[in-house]
Amino acid sequence: MNKVLVIGGGFAGCCAASRLAEGGAEVLLVESASEIGGRVRKYGCKAGAKCNDCGVCLAGGLWAAIVKNPSVKVITSARVTDLRREACAYTAEIESPAGCIGVGGISSVLVSTGFDSMNEGRSAYLHLSGETGVLTGTELETVMRGRGRDGIFAAPPGRVAFVQCFGSRDGHERSNYCSRVCCSYSVRMTKAIKHYYPGCGVTFFYMELQNTANSDVWAELAAMGVRFLKCRPLEISGGRPVTVEYDAPALGRMSENFDVVVLSEGIHPSRENWKIAEICGLEQDKNGFLRAESAIGVHVAGTARRPMTIAETRHDAVTAAAAILSELCPNGSAAG
Ligand SMILES: Cc1cc2nc3c(=O)[nH]c(=O)nc-3n(C[C@H](O)[C@H](O)[C@H](O)COP(=O)(O)OP(=O)(O)OC[C@H]3O[C@@H](n4cnc5c(N)ncnc54)[C@H](O)[C@@H]3O)c2cc1C
Ligand code: SF4
Ligand code: SF4
Repeated sequence: MNKVLVIGGGFAGCCAASRLAEGGAEVLLVESASEIGGRVRKYGCKAGAKCNDCGVCLAGGLWAAIVKNPSVKVITSARVTDLRREACAYTAEIESPAGCIGVGGISSVLVSTGFDSMNEGRSAYLHLSGETGVLTGTELETVMRGRGRDGIFAAPPGRVAFVQCFGSRDGHERSNYCSRVCCSYSVRMTKAIKHYYPGCGVTFFYMELQNTANSDVWAELAAMGVRFLKCRPLEISGGRPVTVEYDAPALGRMSENFDVVVLSEGIHPSRENWKIAEICGLEQDKNGFLRAESAIGVHVAGTARRPMTIAETRHDAVTAAAAILSELCPNGSAAG
């Protein structure tokens, strides 16, 4: 049977592993964390009265199915430390709590190591102090995941602010690009917040608003009373309340208080991409994401390549898995 090594067991890695196993391959899934699922496993449902189509359901049942799949061997808390291609097969060195093992006879390799949210926790233009009341988008995902039937927050918030493009479109963060996912998750979170707390005032500090699948969504939020301020906050001081200072285009320096401030962080190349690139003979693009083509035939899928939504990640992973399956030898020997 053809053996495929998948490095990174997030949504991309698990979607690919599932497709590869379905196509008859034996999969070795190496995940550095203590469990598979990556970031999506920690995300919450953003439905209000109805589904807000956030994509998290696409992972429904996937993690359990992977662990139970007899064709997929999962090694958690593990890393690939070396990969060699000899003749037409790869040999990998894998370090795990059980020790260091060498695995040979690998026909193909897929890298799906995902992304980091904010590279260094700082930004070129924004000074942050104090944590009370200040949540990153990732932290609000976890709050959404743990929400009860009657609410999201421990106490009903009177005023919530979203700070868009936090760490994106920012030269200091080496990310002069749009992360593509943070406008849409912020919109969905806002809809959920307004559902539970209709009287809550929501403000968006923004520079750009990305077109979401439904381009009327910004008008819809405005009709719900959401306020849009086209400027970037200069200073955020956590506490009760959180104080946000900003330069308003016509008014000059302003200061406002909020109960909750959400930093809408985006998708950054993993800090470890250089390492995986070196091991797998991959190149990085100018932002630090991994390029899909490798000198030794290794494939890349998911947000390790570029910012993607959950639905796009699944499509990318399944496409990569199909490409791998088409390269494998029907008799199960390693690819040439
Ligand atoms: C705050 C936030 C909220 C979001 N909300 C939504 C949403 O509501 N809807 C939506 O469509 N998209 C959303 N996204 C985008 C979504 O997170 C991605 O599409 C998705 O996580 C991509 O999955 P992935 O497998 O590529 O990456 P990841 O989820 O990052 O998974 C990568 C996996 O690889 C592992 N790994 C990393 N390095 C190594 C290594 N060297 N060796 C082995 N394993 C390794 C990691 O531990 C992880 O398990 C959001 C993004 C952010 C930042
Ligand atoms: S909002 Fe997201 S997680 Fe909730 S039901 Fe809709 S797609 Fe599923
Ligand atoms: S998706 Fe929206 S918040 Fe995210 S970087 Fe792009 S414009 Fe900014």
